[in-house]
Amino acid sequence: MHLAEIGMLMAIIGTLLHHEIVTYTWIITGLAIGSLVGLAMGLWVPMTAMPQRTALSHAFGAFAAALVGISEFYKHEVSGVHIERITMSALGFEVMLGALTTTGSLLAFAKLQGMVRGTPMTYKGQNIFNMTLLAITVGLFIYLIFVPDSMPLFFTMAGLAFIFGFLLVMPIGSADMPVVMSLLNSYAGLASAATGFVLSNNVLIIAGTLDGFSGFILSILMCRAMNRSITNVLFGAFGSAATAAGEADQQGTMREVGLEDVGVQLAYANKVIFVPGYGLATAQAQHAVRELADALEKRGVTVKYGIHPVAGRMPGHMNVLLAEANVPYSSLYELEQINPEFPSTDVAMVIGANDVVNPDARDNPSSPIAGMPILEVDRSKSVVVLKRGQGKGFSGLENPLFFKPVTGMLYGDAKDTLTRLVQAVQHA
Ligand code: NAP
Repeated sequence: MHLAEIGMLMAIIGTLLHHEIVTYTWIITGLAIGSLVGLAMGLWVPMTAMPQRTALSHAFGAFAAALVGISEFYKHEVSGVHIERITMSALGFEVMLGALTTTGSLLAFAKLQGMVRGTPMTYKGQNIFNMTLLAITVGLFIYLIFVPDSMPLFFTMAGLAFIFGFLLVMPIGSADMPVVMSLLNSYAGLASAATGFVLSNNVLIIAGTLDGFSGFILSILMCRAMNRSITNVLFGAFGSAATAAGEADQQGTMREVGLEDVGVQLAYANKVIFVPGYGLATAQAQHAVRELADALEKRGVTVKYGIHPVAGRMPGHMNVLLAEANVPYSSLYELEQINPEFPSTDVAMVIGANDVVNPDARDNPSSPIAGMPILEVDRSKSVVVLKRGQGKGFSGLENPLFFKPVTGMLYGDAKDTLTRLVQAVQHA
């Protein structure tokens, strides 16, 4: 990040020294407003709101790319200079991707922030309508490469791309948003790279291409972690009709357990596996979980952590949090490593996690998350789920784990409860 900051600073200074600059007024105004917005976002947005904050940044970046493209086109048109085909290709690509990324990212932000419904918004014939709109937009783009002097067609293409961004993200549910976000990130990067071609700016070309392709690779990796394909994410309307089916057949009741009992159970166990999730992050309970692990290890209990690749709200979220609390990296186990260990585990303690331990993903083919790899805590000898109440996870689905006989529900805020558990273990 620091290298990127230094790179950006050098690019800005280099640009400011450009001999073609006529006046600095607008540049300084833009710099001041941008710095203020960036500073406020950096200071006040919590780590758990990182996905929506990233969505907003993509929207800003993509909008900037689209505006640069539009102004370049306009400049050529009013000065009567014919636009070369190669320039028009880069320019059209930049405006098209920039425009659709802007509105797509804004809607992703609104969904993740809870400003609009997070569930997929679908209607009959949606995919066909979207594909037709995309085909018209791309058709206009190709036409403009050969006949670049039509201002109305250019603005129609830009307008359609703005609309397409909204329509693209509408049917995508919150649970798939991380993948969509990294895809939009990739589009924003490619739009910036195209801007670099238009402006003959090498920094933009290199940075945009890096951003574009790393975003694309990340999208593929996240899809793999969730056992979904990109096309399924984009056109599958995850979590709509199937949700009801997935939730219909909950059986059994939730069994509540007391803090003292859990303390004794943990203290006399041979092996305990902690499974942290988003709730650990919101409660900032990483230090408390470390203290509990220390208290258990002092009594000779083996403690391990099971880390799901999409636990929390950003890739690596749990690793970063636990590292902050000095949890040794050797105690963290990835999904494939830890799953075979659950049957020999006395207590699997789920701390503020939900979707990543939902057995429906494995057992219920009609579930919207069917096929997503999970941490199989339900195979342990006993499970304790620590959460505040009956709240659902990010996907909005019910979790049958909570109704299994092997599971005890320990209600409370993660940080507060873990701190009290340390004392319970010490007195057991
Ligand atoms: P989750 O499914 O979102 O569940 C978190 C649970 O924590 C909730 O059920 C909530 O229940 C509980 N909770 C919230 N605050 C708490 C607190 N202060 N103390 C104790 N419990 C608390 O979390 P997850 O299992 O980590 O799964 C992550 C989800 O986020 C996945 O669906 C994933 O696809 C998605 N996602 C991941 C990323 C990524 O890159 N990692 C990015 C965006 C989205 P109560 O309300 O009852 O307490």
